[in-house]
Amino acid sequence: MLKITKYAPEIKKAKKEISDFFGFNLEIEIIIAKNRVEYEKLLGRKTADWEIGSYSPQEKNIKLLDPVRWKKDAPIHNPKKFSTTIKHELVHAYTNHLSKNKALPKWLNEGLAETISGSGQNKKNQYFETDFCSKLDTPFNWSQRVNSGSGAYATSYLFTRYLLNKYGFKTIKKLIQAAPIYYSYNRFDKIAINIFGKNLAKLEEEFLDNIQ
Ligand SMILES: [Zn+2]
Repeated sequence: MLKITKYAPEIKKAKKEISDFFGFNLEIEIIIAKNRVEYEKLLGRKTADWEIGSYSPQEKNIKLLDPVRWKKDAPIHNPKKFSTTIKHELVHAYTNHLSKNKALPKWLNEGLAETISGSGQNKKNQYFETDFCSKLDTPFNWSQRVNSGSGAYATSYLFTRYLLNKYGFKTIKKLIQAAPIYYSYNRFDKIAINIFGKNLAKLEEEFLDNIQ
């Protein structure tokens, strides 16, 4: 584990930006692993070579892989994106706090992290699965698609960005706070109807009609 001081200015800046966006402040510990072996030891599991950060709601901390190791341990990522990676994980922490640790669909969770942190910027996608909200929702469904070039992150980012731009963060906040303790597509769909006046399938249609 590295002394946090190495990246202290970047971490401080990221924390302020995300806390300003959400309008409240959370104390979150950030741990930097010096390589993938140490990162996996901290997480207690094997990781894919694109994984560089993780938020733990149980431990209330964020674990990150030291960006000096990305070239070797996470070659698809540019170390220049370290600060957006910190922000991405912080958004997960803040979203989890807002939802009171309830289960959100993965597309919303990752979509918010990608949009608010700026890490989704420039992400594009041309193929959208039908009813993607039902295919990118549970951790199982997400894991089936995240590695297969389906654009799981890009779809989630573009859709969530659309919802944020069109309906505003206040409305999205209501959606987060109204999430059921036990997630199912149908239960979340009902909440969407209450909040947007239309179901997820309709919102997807609306998004695809307006995508730029
Ligand atoms: Zn994430």
